[in-house]
Amino acid sequence: MTVRAYIGIGSNLNDPVAQVKEAAEELALLPDSLLVARSSLYRGKPMGPQDQPDYVNAVVALDTLLSAEDLLRALQEIERLQGRERDTERWGPRILDLDLLLYGKTVIDTPGLRVPHPGMHERDFVIIPLAEIAGNLNIPGHGLLTTLINQVENHSLKKLITG
Ligand code: ATP
Ligand code: CA
Ligand code: CA
Ligand code: CA
Repeated sequence: MTVRAYIGIGSNLNDPVAQVKEAAEELALLPDSLLVARSSLYRGKPMGPQDQPDYVNAVVALDTLLSAEDLLRALQEIERLQGRERDTERWGPRILDLDLLLYGKTVIDTPGLRVPHPGMHERDFVIIPLAEIAGNLNIPGHGLLTTLINQVENHSLKKLITG
């Protein structure tokens, strides 16, 4: 039985638009998985430290047979392949960030993996692209996406027109 997972993609280094598109292509190649939707790309201000470039973000939906843990490992492998280096600064600049936002209706709370992804419900760069590709999802612990979209503050997010 496949599970529908939602993955947040972000980049603010080394041609972020290209990095986000390449990550979506890599996600489409994951084994036992089907990429079923991808949002537009969005540009917005960074979270945390402001002395870094703007981010490009998107969200994709993946129907997968992979466990949540295997999917997270696969996401980290794609980050590594695209050249992400681990920064000591929280929310510092990065070539690629892949967050497992949702894994079906499953709630996971382990030291290495928390789903729904903490903070997703209040981040404009997650909620706005997610609403583009998902129906009126229930986000475990946070209610319906349509309610969240009305509550989320859009700080700076702009949809990009890309080819
Ligand atoms: P944030 O998680 O607030 O968006 P971040 O993406 O910058 O911040 P990272 O440095 O990329 O944080 O990840 C730190 C750790 O978060 C990872 O090593 C991973 O084990 C853990 N983690 C926990 N839950 C998740 C999840 N749902 N998706 C991705 N990583 C997660
Ligand atoms: Ca800094
Ligand atoms: Ca993140
Ligand atoms: Ca991350």
